[in-house]
Amino acid sequence: MSDAASAMAVESAAIVSCGDELTTGRIADTNAAFLADELSGIGVAVKATIVVGDDPPGIGWAWRQAVSLGDVVIATGGLGPTADDLTTETLAAVFGRTLVFDEPAAAHIRSIFAASGRAMPSNNLKQATFPDGATIIPNPLGTAPGYRLRVEGARGPCHVVVLPGVPREMKRMWADTVKPWLRELTGAERVFASRTFQTFGLTESGLDERLRGVVEADEARLSFRASFPEISVRVTVAAAPPEVARRLETVAARVRARIVDVVYGEGSETMEAVAGRLLTEAQLTLAVAESCTGGLIGHRLTNVPGSSRYFREGLVCYSNDAKRDLLGVSPATLELTGAVSEETAREMAVGVRRVAGSDLGLATTGIAGPDGGTAEKPVGTVCIALASNGGVASRRYQLWGTRDWVKLLTSQIALDWVRRHAIGLPVAASEIAGGWERTPRHGAAG
Ligand code: ATP
Repeated sequence: MSDAASAMAVESAAIVSCGDELTTGRIADTNAAFLADELSGIGVAVKATIVVGDDPPGIGWAWRQAVSLGDVVIATGGLGPTADDLTTETLAAVFGRTLVFDEPAAAHIRSIFAASGRAMPSNNLKQATFPDGATIIPNPLGTAPGYRLRVEGARGPCHVVVLPGVPREMKRMWADTVKPWLRELTGAERVFASRTFQTFGLTESGLDERLRGVVEADEARLSFRASFPEISVRVTVAAAPPEVARRLETVAARVRARIVDVVYGEGSETMEAVAGRLLTEAQLTLAVAESCTGGLIGHRLTNVPGSSRYFREGLVCYSNDAKRDLLGVSPATLELTGAVSEETAREMAVGVRRVAGSDLGLATTGIAGPDGGTAEKPVGTVCIALASNGGVASRRYQLWGTRDWVKLLTSQIALDWVRRHAIGLPVAASEIAGGWERTPRHGAAG
């Protein structure tokens, strides 16, 4: 089969996600989120994402809308062998193509079944049928190949790319075949380069405000991605190949300078990975005593390969007895200030540092809710302390959100403290997590 595509500018895209599981709300459309992010990373503006069920009139409507909006349409889902997988049939009908059987694709499907010793149901051969003129996109991880096809849309020629719905397969085919091909089509005279800053401490609108006017519209594009409690800021520039790296450097440095106090990493690094890397560089070890976070900080730290280099131990001390018996928190402190207090957090941090023999002792105690709040200590009251050979820092926060938010946010702030300590920044500064506090309070810092 051959593709009639000649070089054609690709500046805009539409995404079509097919499947009843999407329109009935059983799964979230993560394929579209992934593709939209990837497309904007190579400078292709996504005009629309259309989600449609397994119903031919709806899918036909979606195809017509999509090709009227984008220079390229990327569709996922509905390539399976069953009767409700209708993407290819509908595409062929809408654009007046016949369906043709591709023997090499069929042989590949047969070989997958043979390799696993399973008999191939005959309906799987449906996956070796493509609209006439399609270029097949190999699927190294599954039976359903994808394809691309050049069609006439309302605005002129349009490339349609069809990929399986299974995210793992779709992502691999995107990376191996579709993205390199699209990069070529977007033009050799302009290439795209981007840098991502991971931030914590400001909300999306706070970041937007700070960054307003930092780049001209024709110079670079800024995009935000909020994945609670982190928000990433991506800077994308387009320029001729010899120029692109220098331009990105200049613009990214300007962006970074505006938000330097909340940037903790670049690329896709997580807070726990950054904290761990910096602990390693500073040759510091850490132990954690957790009450309201229930082990979440230890879990996050140990998600990072190599964390045994710096993570000594984590104790979940939920009850007053555990705080007293395992960490040595004094009964008088618990009696006078309560389990959720800076004083208790400080004694927990000192206690776990002593017990573990580590350089740093980190502690959390708080009221994650939804019950347990009082007028004096409402739900979301959280105290964090960090003990080191220089003393103990502590602070009380008034966070907001549901129980899981409060736990996650507390773990994030605490890990940010560790990161800050490792590079010599103040840990209990009032602006940390400022965007997530209901009524910022300034506790004692030691
Ligand atoms: P298969 O050969 O597995 O049937 P397919 O191309 O027909 O592949 P679907 O049947 O539509 O794909 O989806 C397969 C699975 O992939 C779904 O059950 C779902 O878990 C996941 N999936 C499909 N579309 C999406 C999407 N847009 N976002 C996230 N996951 C998806």
